[in-house]
Amino acid sequence: MRLTEHPVLRFERGREVTIYFEGKPIKAYEGETIATALHAAGIRVLNYSANEKRPRGLFCAIGKCSSCLMVVNGVPNVRTCITLVEDGMVIERQRGKAKLPREAKPPEFRNAKVVKADIVIIGGGPAGLMAAIHAADGGASVVLLDENPMLGGQLVKQTHKFFGKREQFAGVRGVEIARILEGEARKRKNIKIFLETSAVGIFQDGDEKLVLAVKNNRELIEFRGRAVIVATGAMEKMIPFENNDLPGIYGAGAIQTLMNTYGVKPGDRVLIVGAGNVGLILAYQLIQAGVEVKAIVEAMPKVGGYFVHAAKVRRLGVPILTRHTILRAEGKEKVEKAVVAQLDENWRPIPGTERTFEVDVIALAVGLRPSIELLHQAGCQIRYVRELSGHVALRDEWMETTVRGIFVAGDSAGIEEATTAMLEGKIAGIAATLRLGIADESWLKEMEKAQKDLVEFRSGPFGRHVLEGIKKALIGGVASE
Ligand SMILES: Cc1cc2nc3c(=O)[nH]c(=O)nc-3n(C[C@H](O)[C@H](O)[C@H](O)COP(=O)(O)OP(=O)(O)OC[C@H]3O[C@@H](n4cnc5c(N)ncnc54)[C@H](O)[C@@H]3O)c2cc1C
Repeated sequence: MRLTEHPVLRFERGREVTIYFEGKPIKAYEGETIATALHAAGIRVLNYSANEKRPRGLFCAIGKCSSCLMVVNGVPNVRTCITLVEDGMVIERQRGKAKLPREAKPPEFRNAKVVKADIVIIGGGPAGLMAAIHAADGGASVVLLDENPMLGGQLVKQTHKFFGKREQFAGVRGVEIARILEGEARKRKNIKIFLETSAVGIFQDGDEKLVLAVKNNRELIEFRGRAVIVATGAMEKMIPFENNDLPGIYGAGAIQTLMNTYGVKPGDRVLIVGAGNVGLILAYQLIQAGVEVKAIVEAMPKVGGYFVHAAKVRRLGVPILTRHTILRAEGKEKVEKAVVAQLDENWRPIPGTERTFEVDVIALAVGLRPSIELLHQAGCQIRYVRELSGHVALRDEWMETTVRGIFVAGDSAGIEEATTAMLEGKIAGIAATLRLGIADESWLKEMEKAQKDLVEFRSGPFGRHVLEGIKKALIGGVASE
């Protein structure tokens, strides 16, 4: 199941270690997550659900859902998709509701480590990295935290070359953009980076903003700053169909994480649901990794992604069934089959058109929704904006939300692309330093340039739709639907 050869990627694995799954030794490599190591060993069922005790497996692979919770060294509810293996680790499936170990003590808030900076940035994807770089260049001290073990967000698994302008990394692969941005951030002495660190709450404490976070599932840290930038990205959407919780059903991004970041095949035969750019790119990447793609089903009457991506996939022999949807997954402990059917004009399955595919993986590429939980909890005004793919925080043109000193950027402000995430990150980073009186007025020009670039980028056919959404998300903008 581990990939050794790939046309684009080289997998440099860390030191070999042994982890113990339900008493059985399993080979793993330092630098990979527990869920990755278990997948490489062919283990799909990671826990049994709290109430119905149904088998559950990996779904998002970026720490956003609860599908991969396991008991690690006696500690329940560990997100194994973002927790790295350690030699000798003891891992068990969680069965039903988690029980705290008897000796567990609640963490001591009074003893939490305190880290201070001018600006605290949550999320080290393209938006958070650009915000950090520009805030640092404006003279601010910056803390950048991310709950994943590596910087780059969604970029670390994008093996394809990006479109757009040269100055916005057109023609460069996503993985490479992540490396460039990380290099820039690490070069700056006034940026402190904390990985494997989850922000769990944002509070106002006097003049300071307090971001409470947990590092490595163990240590509580209080990050204190005068401004916070939330760049927490997005999470995969789920669609309703029978048995949609069976292990072997993954969000598209999770498959990319397994395959492109860690070099582990998700399975052998895949059905993809959704023919937008993500579904199409995923099909191509699966084929590159030697996995068979049986078909892509798409409920809309035509393919949503770029024509070039669809043409490439069709040339490789993958049928794209438009006006089709998935009816159910079949299998006992994991996916064995997928049943699809054609839809009529009222989106109802047409009886007699059912087709069964023998697959061990179903990939859902049905869109993302902004991760706004922290913004919501912090009291930012939230509105549902269909064009931005979900609930978003209202913001002004400086990306500042209705809570002064809290800024937002990237997919967490509305689903778009890495290019717009980077530009929004740049705006938020500069705006925060200006708001705090750290950067001088000359930085306004840089911000205006980024705002102009955003307008230009959004002037294309896909952008027009987003612009409608942004009007609704602006403070004082048009009312929600
Ligand atoms: C298959 C696919 C193909 C794509 N292709 C393209 C393309 O060709 N061109 C393009 O421009 N874009 C593309 N995109 C989109 C692009 O990757 C995203 O729009 C972009 O990564 C969004 O950046 P972001 O920084 O807002 O969020 P992300 O990249 O998602 O980063 C968010 C970060 O926040 C961290 N985080 C979240 N919550 C917390 C928390 N509570 N505490 C600490 N850290 C947290 C996460 O771990 C993550 O690292 C593609 C996306 C996918 C899935």
